Amino acid sequence: STEIRLASRPTGWPTPDNFETAVISLPELAEGEVRVANEFLSVDPYMRGRMNDAKSYAEPYALGEVMTGAAVGRVIESRTAEISVGDAVLHHLGWRSVSQGPAASFRVVQDISGVPLSAYLGILGMTAYTAYVGLLEIAGLKEGDNVFVSGAAGAVGSAAGQIARLKGASRVIGSAGTAEKVEQLKGKYGFAAAFNYKDAPVREQLRAAAPEGIDVYFDNVGGEHLEAALDVFNRGGRAALCGAISSYNSTEAPVGPRNMANMITQGLSLKGFTVGFYPELHEAFINDMSRWLDSGEIVFEETVIEGLENSVHGFLELMRGANTGKMVIKL
Ligand code: NDP
Repeated sequence: STEIRLASRPTGWPTPDNFETAVISLPELAEGEVRVANEFLSVDPYMRGRMNDAKSYAEPYALGEVMTGAAVGRVIESRTAEISVGDAVLHHLGWRSVSQGPAASFRVVQDISGVPLSAYLGILGMTAYTAYVGLLEIAGLKEGDNVFVSGAAGAVGSAAGQIARLKGASRVIGSAGTAEKVEQLKGKYGFAAAFNYKDAPVREQLRAAAPEGIDVYFDNVGGEHLEAALDVFNRGGRAALCGAISSYNSTEAPVGPRNMANMITQGLSLKGFTVGFYPELHEAFINDMSRWLDSGEIVFEETVIEGLENSVHGFLELMRGANTGKMVIKL
């Protein structure tokens, strides 16, 4: 198996030197184990945090550790009755061509006609589930809410905007970093309004896009976006703090919003979350999402980078915004 490991810890933006590729020979399968040829690897923003020697969403990677993360593949050898050769499986063994281990490390997923296996990393996987939990559990989305989603053309954001609409939001507004993404938000994903945060201050653009204010903010970005939302919130507004990608590669500690006092005067609640702590909505998510995908009420995009050797490139491109929808590596 070929695998990609963390070689050194970056300061600021990672570079290819922070990673190393190794070819290893795998031992024969032990009783109860399976071997999987990976088809798609996930590259996710949280992996940047794990490259630092500090606790973020998850424990830091050790130096020399494989870039652990979600992947989907097909079983090529099995020594367990639970999983058969040919089954499609989801696992978290990271950036490698072949993965093997005890059956419990792998979850069999259904092949759905017309839906690529990579969907289990995106629209049927962790990122869309994050959107679902953030809106319904953390922000307490109600019918008639005006909702603002940042990072709206990405994997989490594009799911969040559509889920908000399908769960009864009255007006969904999104921000993203290119004109093409803004068009896609208003067209393909059905956002009522969208803007490019690079065109003008977020506060001004959000005010113009939300003449009736916002009730819910789904924050993927932090920084200037969060500050703008705090200014445009209606009384009793609620934010799900999901991510703060604007600061993941900065070398200085991010400055907090300067208008936190609005939380008092407007009675706002801001709640951070990491999706792993909210397993209880998963069944409802799969039911809703399968139905929405089937009926075409939810659509999704993937940006596919080919080749394990391009995993690092794909990961860096994700943080630069080269993706629309879920960024995946195809082996
Ligand atoms: P995305 O698919 O959204 O990809 C990242 C996007 O971030 C890029 O496409 C880019 O789009 C945008 N971006 C990069 N830099 C900036 C910046 N300085 N300001 C604004 N936008 C920027 O990734 P995901 O959907 O996987 O993740 C989205 C967010 O959700 C991240 O913050 C991530 O950490 C968080 N997350 C949190 C989870 C949780 O449990 N709390 C679980 C999963 C994800 P653009 O062109 O628009 O700039």
